[in-house]
Amino acid sequence: MDRKLHARLVEISGSDTLARASRSVWVPFVAADGTWWQARHDETHREHLTILQAIEENHPEEAERLAQEHVLHALEVMSSQIDTGKAELKWHL
Ligand SMILES: [Zn+2]
Repeated sequence: MDRKLHARLVEISGSDTLARASRSVWVPFVAADGTWWQARHDETHREHLTILQAIEENHPEEAERLAQEHVLHALEVMSSQIDTGKAELKWHL
């Protein structure tokens, strides 16, 4: 669900740079423990709804700010998961 929504937003934006960046961000992260995704699911869903609402209500700056927060938040969670050994980075070459 998360990947699909991101892909669709990138597609709508029409940005090649964003499309490349979003693909490279997703590939290397592997959760060692699948339960983490479940725990993060509700939070992710709420963040997505606020972003979509801002887009629907035609507040592009607000949507951009929320999207940046969403990505930064996900990165924070991912790095703490890596630090505690609950996930790892794997490069698919
Ligand atoms: Zn997302």
